Amino acid sequence: MSSARKIYQMTVEQIIDHTSSVRELVLKAIEPAEFVFKAGQFVMLNVPQTEGKPVLRAYSIASDDRIKNGFRLLFKFVDNGIASTFVWNLKGGETLNFTGPFGKVFFQEPPTEQIVFLNTGTGLSQHICYLLSKKEQYPNLRYRMLFGVRTEKDMYYQKEIAALSQELQDFKFEFVLSRPQENWTGKKGYVQDFLQEFNYKEIPTTFYLCGNGGMIKAVKHQLIEIDGIDKTRIWSEAFD
Ligand SMILES: Cc1cc2nc3c(=O)[nH]c(=O)nc-3n(C[C@H](O)[C@H](O)[C@H](O)COP(=O)(O)OP(=O)(O)OC[C@H]3O[C@@H](n4cnc5c(N)ncnc54)[C@H](O)[C@@H]3O)c2cc1C
Repeated sequence: MSSARKIYQMTVEQIIDHTSSVRELVLKAIEPAEFVFKAGQFVMLNVPQTEGKPVLRAYSIASDDRIKNGFRLLFKFVDNGIASTFVWNLKGGETLNFTGPFGKVFFQEPPTEQIVFLNTGTGLSQHICYLLSKKEQYPNLRYRMLFGVRTEKDMYYQKEIAALSQELQDFKFEFVLSRPQENWTGKKGYVQDFLQEFNYKEIPTTFYLCGNGGMIKAVKHQLIEIDGIDKTRIWSEAFD
């Protein structure tokens, strides 16, 4: 049996509801006791069905790849979604089946001077995984992150991101809200509206894009077709 087909049984050790539509699962490996992956990879959650084969859904791992006895996943609720309904019915303590790891969107090494992360919704997961996994190895890079969500109520992971920024010498992070309240003083619009801030024509930069396919398409169009940036500097994972 190929390792990708092997079933990994994981216990739901903790459930953290960050917003009304973002849920984090902390999963602990039971059998086998280790799950080895590389930052940037995803797993397939096997959603059990009353009849027939399980339904498979992909989720990017949101935790440090040096931790082998489990991982964390971030889920965005999709109305009437098969996996979403299953995950939002969990109470903790259940055993879930996963296959993987899959994916080849890795952190590029040696890294460039500047790293720009652009994500939306739960697309944050892949980028948090890179940062947690690489922060000791590369604490001095110029890290920039824009995190796109709809409203103030959709913002999450502020504490975790603040903790990360304490450990990195030059990490700047901002939310971009597409539909904020009138009194919002931060960035308004879509992450792709703010690309020019990164000075990437002068500073050697690698871009990592994750989440909404429309955002990824728009950023690639600007960088590759308009600005002529080399494709090998842009790494993306679309969730839809
Ligand atoms: C490589 C990869 C990694 C991924 N990582 C993550 C992750 O870390 N976290 C995460 O939350 N999701 C992630 N996704 C998306 C995830 O795999 C599912 O598609 C998503 O959770 C919806 O599954 P579902 O079974 O609940 O909905 P489904 O039953 O598949 O869909 C229900 C309805 O919602 C629509 N729909 C499906 N997906 C979306 C979506 N993302 N946004 C809006 N509408 C949608 C469908 O068109 C359908 O009409 C990833 C996808 C890929 C390809």
